[in-house]
Amino acid sequence: MKKKNAAPAAGNGKDLDMKIFSGLERLSQALRVLLWEVTKKKNLSPIQTQFMLFLANAREDRRRVGALAEEFNLTPATVSGAVKTLIRKKLITLKSAPHDKRNKIIALTRSGKSLAGQVSAWRSVLLDNLAGFPSGTKENVMLFLMRLIESMQKQGIIRVKGMCVLCDNFHANGRSDPRKQYYCALSNSYFGVRELKMNCPNSIVKRPKPNTVSL
Ligand code: SF4
Repeated sequence: MKKKNAAPAAGNGKDLDMKIFSGLERLSQALRVLLWEVTKKKNLSPIQTQFMLFLANAREDRRRVGALAEEFNLTPATVSGAVKTLIRKKLITLKSAPHDKRNKIIALTRSGKSLAGQVSAWRSVLLDNLAGFPSGTKENVMLFLMRLIESMQKQGIIRVKGMCVLCDNFHANGRSDPRKQYYCALSNSYFGVRELKMNCPNSIVKRPKPNTVSL
């Protein structure tokens, strides 16, 4: 006889992989739609919006056409086109680098900074939801995402910069204390899971294979 309220049979590994894939896909679609709605309101294209968000937080040496092209995996010509549009909209300006007058540094104008602040609010939709989950769950999810990215990077499918687990300075076997289980050779310091970085400006990553997608 069939049991009432029986738990659904556990799926095989491939089912689980497919469910994770669908979850990531839906989340990424939802974030794209949210970003698109914000950019429409501000009369920017998605790539112009991403440039504004990047420029608002990037170090001076990364605020150049070449660095943007590298960061977003675009040609310098495509970046120059978007940069000219943002200059026309009075959201950014170009200034000469102190020791290299031909290599211009991009800076947000006052209205550019204000707009970048408004646009970055779209992230709060997800961040506010994440805030309600237990720390242990979030640490496991963060580690899982880092390892997934690492695995794709090792296969030469993508190239991500700034993550400890991909950095040549990173050593996973630190000390037995979980708060010191990792080691950074650059800063000569030990740290735990929560201090793992996603966007470290000092990260060193070996050169990717050709056709690798930068993220
Ligand atoms: S803190 Fe920065 S330099 Fe150190 S291991 Fe992490 S990514 Fe690399």
